Amino acid sequence: MDASILKKLREIVGAENVLDSPESRIAYSYDATAMRPQMPAAAVVPSTPEQISQILTLANEEKFPVVPRGSGTGLSGGALPMENSIVLLTNHWSRILDIDEENHTVMVEPGVITGHLHAAVEKRGFLYPPDPGSSSICTLGGNVAENSGGLRGLKYGVTKNYVLGLEVILPTGEILTTGGKSVKDVAGYDLKSILVGSEGTLGIFTKILLKIIPRPEFSRTMLASFSSMDDAARSVSAVISARITPAMLEFLDNTTIRCVEDYTRMGLPVESAAILLVEVDGRPQVVEEDAALIEGIFRQHHATSLTVAGSEAEALRLKTARRSAFTSLARVKPTTIMEDVAVPRADLSRLVARIDEIGRKNGVAIGNFGHAGDGNLHPNYLTNERDPVEFARAEKTVFEVEEAAIEMGGTITGEHGVGLYKKRLLEKMVGSASVTMMRTLKGLMDPNNILNPGKVFDIRPRCEGPLPRDREQIKKFEEVAWI
Ligand SMILES: Cc1cc2nc3c(=O)[nH]c(=O)nc-3n(C[C@H](O)[C@H](O)[C@H](O)COP(=O)(O)OP(=O)(O)OC[C@H]3O[C@@H](n4cnc5c(N)ncnc54)[C@H](O)[C@@H]3O)c2cc1C
Repeated sequence: MDASILKKLREIVGAENVLDSPESRIAYSYDATAMRPQMPAAAVVPSTPEQISQILTLANEEKFPVVPRGSGTGLSGGALPMENSIVLLTNHWSRILDIDEENHTVMVEPGVITGHLHAAVEKRGFLYPPDPGSSSICTLGGNVAENSGGLRGLKYGVTKNYVLGLEVILPTGEILTTGGKSVKDVAGYDLKSILVGSEGTLGIFTKILLKIIPRPEFSRTMLASFSSMDDAARSVSAVISARITPAMLEFLDNTTIRCVEDYTRMGLPVESAAILLVEVDGRPQVVEEDAALIEGIFRQHHATSLTVAGSEAEALRLKTARRSAFTSLARVKPTTIMEDVAVPRADLSRLVARIDEIGRKNGVAIGNFGHAGDGNLHPNYLTNERDPVEFARAEKTVFEVEEAAIEMGGTITGEHGVGLYKKRLLEKMVGSASVTMMRTLKGLMDPNNILNPGKVFDIRPRCEGPLPRDREQIKKFEEVAWI
């Protein structure tokens, strides 16, 4: 990047807030996605919306890309920089500005850690339901940009169901506010619905108004194991058919159970094909009735063990099995690709079988866990990106699993977003008319294509297929003939 641009950035935010040492550039060259790092020209730390506006105005004049970033826990490459870009950090804007108990709303800055908001509102008898597995580190700005889901999605929905208003800096530098505390508001187009889930491509959030709900009085958590995946999947369908909506209905497969046990030593049944973690919440009498019904359903479906938590500490312990799934799998190999496909919930068992088959065919170890109640599965491909042939096998497997999810009427991403990693299949997933409309919208809002360019879709159409960088490797892999 031209030194004169860096000088202008220093004039806007102060010299100490333009981080362009090699160490800083390396620190912001990657996110949690298993993709090749790319060095930005600098990371920039603005302190007011006006400074962000000035940075974007400068980016439009000088034509350099700006990549917004929260905590960098994204799993689709949304915060990955590109050549000659700056990474714009909002993670230090971490104040909860207002908790309005009368209107059941909170106003936050984008850098508030999701788990910090959970704790702050729970102290006052409220719940902010969206609960990504990464809630102890991810930011609310990132959650809104990705429309993040999480463990409580089945009963309570995802981030978009809680965003009431936004202050956002548009790619051209205008500061826009949309939405508010009114429960009902249909004045004009619903702009916040376009901005939520826009993956840092349509605006930078600087304030977020969220809905909170009264904290459920009581909850019951249980963990059941099954000797067949089919029994576990049929249990999930039976619970939903019984018109019970658990707050959590999570699943772990055998590979994941073994890895979690190896890591936590919490006494999980390592021979089981599947574990279901369930939490029901609400009024005590209803919770006890639902918990008893679920217990009966699990027994009918041949649960081989069932543990019902008798205290909050025990409930936390059972949830550790699910919360430590990714960390446990990540210890097995140097690289873990955490994937995110979803299918109609009744097809979950078929999807798991298909993933096993694809993994075996390609010689890739896979640990599956996810949000069974939502039909949203996270296959984790255990691989090594330093071994190009092994890594190509894993990427081929990712691609085939995504295609299988589409064939089954599902989606290539339930909650992690498209970013860089999945854009090659977006058109196949949503159709060319939808992608054309997205491109048109992006072109109108960001005519110079400076805000997180190349994420979600390419500005010009490209062919679908495995990740471009690995096409050669995949060819090589096919020649060596594992398949
Ligand atoms: C172990 C683990 C578990 C996870 N579990 C879940 C889960 O259960 N459910 C789920 O949905 N996700 C999950 N994730 C994915 C990830 O945590 C979420 O996508 C999260 O919302 C990203 O937040 P972040 O602050 O890290 O954002 P980043 O990774 O920094 O950025 C993500 C995207 O948001 C944009 N962005 C960030 N801040 C802003 C802003 N202020 N304005 C505009 N755009 C912005 C970025 O440009 C990028 O496109 C998990 C990740 C990990 C590593």
